[in-house]
Amino acid sequence: MSVRIVLLGPPGAGKGTQAARLAEKLGVEAISTGDIFRANIKGETELGKLAQEYTSRGELVPDSVTNAMVRDKLASKIDGDAQTLGFILDGYPRNVAQVEELDAILSEFGVALDGAVEITADGDIVTERLLKRAEIEGRADDTEPVIRHRLAVYAEQTAPISAVYAQRSALVQVDGIGDVDEVTDRLLAALESFDDQ
Ligand code: ADP
Repeated sequence: MSVRIVLLGPPGAGKGTQAARLAEKLGVEAISTGDIFRANIKGETELGKLAQEYTSRGELVPDSVTNAMVRDKLASKIDGDAQTLGFILDGYPRNVAQVEELDAILSEFGVALDGAVEITADGDIVTERLLKRAEIEGRADDTEPVIRHRLAVYAEQTAPISAVYAQRSALVQVDGIGDVDEVTDRLLAALESFDDQ
């Protein structure tokens, strides 16, 4: 059985770091919409030019663009039997419409999601982490006003999707505060709760 999960949590909660670690341990690919957008921006592709307009302001890239991108990415991973499709989605879905689109994509492929894992972290801590990362990595969307806007967009559009998965009994929450290894262990333990379903 392949692992099919979405990783939720605020910007700065450590999703990218943990997605990469889980991917390695579980033998599936981590797909980060943020990373795909950044690679396209760097490569100056048409998608990158469009994405930059939004990411530089801390806004979400329009759903039509993001949904098509994720669909293509997942479709490209299906090699014959869709049942072998495994993934950890990091940064998608990010609003309720994207949750519905992911449902539609997976049902078209005839596979189901194991569930959603939310990495929780306090707002002050994530703001602090993001500002620190801004100094180190110099990401274009890591300036203070843009970070604040990203957090506001998260609270308004992304935080509500946890409730959608919770209603389906498909949500586990994991405390994202602590050292990186400890959080990975908590995530791996939390994922076992999906096995019983
Ligand atoms: P963060 O560090 O805020 O978690 P990411 O690295 O996941 O951000 O994504 C960077 C930017 O890419 C987001 O602020 C957003 O503009 C865009 N983006 C990423 N995923 C999505 C998505 N699912 N829908 C729309 N826009 C997205």
